Amino acid sequence: MPRPAKQANAKTRRPRAREAGHHAAEPALQFGSAWDYAPAPETLPVPLKKRYPLYIGGGFVPAASGKTFASINPATGRAHARIADGGRADVDAAVAAARKALDGPWGKMPPAERGKYLFRIARMIQERSRELAVLETMDGGKPIKESRDIDLPLVAAHFFYYAGWADKLEYAFPGRRPGPVGVCGQVIPWNFPLLMAAWKLAPALACGNTVVLKPAETTSVTALHLAEIFADAGLPDGVVNIVTGAGATGAALVGHPGVDKIAFTGSTEVGKKIAAATAGTGKRLTLELGGKAANILFDDAPLDQAVEGIVNGIYFNQGHVCCAGSRLFVQESVYDKVLRKLADRVATLRVGDPLDKNTDIGAINSGEQLGRIRELVDSGVAEGAELHQSRCRLPREGYWFKPSFFTGVTASHRIAREEIFGPVLSVLTFRTPEEAVERANNTAYGLSAGVWTDKGSKIFKMAKALKAGVIWANTYNKFDPASPFGGYKESGFGREGGMHGLAPYLR
Ligand code: NAD
Repeated sequence: MPRPAKQANAKTRRPRAREAGHHAAEPALQFGSAWDYAPAPETLPVPLKKRYPLYIGGGFVPAASGKTFASINPATGRAHARIADGGRADVDAAVAAARKALDGPWGKMPPAERGKYLFRIARMIQERSRELAVLETMDGGKPIKESRDIDLPLVAAHFFYYAGWADKLEYAFPGRRPGPVGVCGQVIPWNFPLLMAAWKLAPALACGNTVVLKPAETTSVTALHLAEIFADAGLPDGVVNIVTGAGATGAALVGHPGVDKIAFTGSTEVGKKIAAATAGTGKRLTLELGGKAANILFDDAPLDQAVEGIVNGIYFNQGHVCCAGSRLFVQESVYDKVLRKLADRVATLRVGDPLDKNTDIGAINSGEQLGRIRELVDSGVAEGAELHQSRCRLPREGYWFKPSFFTGVTASHRIAREEIFGPVLSVLTFRTPEEAVERANNTAYGLSAGVWTDKGSKIFKMAKALKAGVIWANTYNKFDPASPFGGYKESGFGREGGMHGLAPYLR
């Protein structure tokens, strides 16, 4: 079984790190071919279509321009569908349809009836969850075990959760008479296509709004399958409209005068543009942006469990996770031990066909994202950090990156400051809790953090001091529809999930 290989820029090569010495003293176990699993691909086929139109006013329509663009399966690098390229005219039509539904049947519907639609949608998602999971994996590259066991159950759970709130809004905000904000423009990223759609759509609809949703250009397919569910559920025409396209389509939606609220999840760079575009327009805005989370490991933590959490924190969904624990802070007294355990665990991660149930790490979402990851990793090596990579073999076609971690990282390195959004961890150290807090908070972001310790009091102390919207203790990447999620500083503002997630959609 291969161990991660260590690479360093020839100019900046350092003496062998201590963990490497530890490895040399302990010969690796050889499992031979018995360690190789037989392929276990998820059964196909699924109803992947050749062409995906827009969903406007309850109907599936081509883009007014007639233009389409390719959706690539990142595991093969080949186009597997064509997506309608929505433009300004399509955004106009979608916003008009949303307004008509708001002023018409949806706006007049008793809240309990609205809730019934959401319950029905949630059940239909469950019924079609296998199909949706396979499509999500084919279109986005994430391992089937994640789309099947994490994304899809959470998608349904969000609709169930917010369905329950639809007729209880006055209990959520006592003494007020909450009403919908109006027509909501929602723009989402590619890392959790259906889950981000659910995070946005479910609370908006529960509160009585209507929506125009703009999926990310590399992962539009499943949003259109979700549209089929809305149509099959009998959701009144125009309550949800889906306009696919790239950044220009998103910008047209953000700038549309008929939109009352913008909810955006994506990069901090685009978030800033959206904040500028909506400033002074009276539009409501929530921004869920990037992150560079600290995962802090104290020497009193159960180390094996913590290493599992670290691995989950950074390699889940190929590291395409806004709240990924991408900066690991290890207390110096256990640094060698943790590094050895981490290297051993990284060596066992299975990279390959996302449709294989044994796969831990799937394909990088796009060639463009792979380029970004490579560029940042190269900068880490050039700045003098030591790169450790799994020796796994990568498929020849498609977009892949070996699970990697850096040691010898300093706070000024780009890999410690910038979001890599790939399977790459930066390992740093600390001595005292105070130092851990100071180093963890030394970032422009503030989305999430993790704390690993045996001491409850330390957890509370750290949670209070860390500037992050979500803090996990002795676990990582745990999501629940009842729990609010969102950031500080350059990670954005506003909360999604839980009762807090209702407020941005209510007047
Ligand atoms: P991105 O900002 O490039 O794109 C996000 C969406 O915005 C896409 O649909 C894109 O087409 C659209 N868009 C691009 N330019 C636009 C513009 N000028 N106006 C309006 N819309 C525009 O981000 P991405 O690469 O798709 O996603 C990765 C980023 O998303 C990461 O930074 C990640 O941290 C962040 N993210 C944050 C959360 C969170 O909850 N905080 C969740 C998931 C992803």
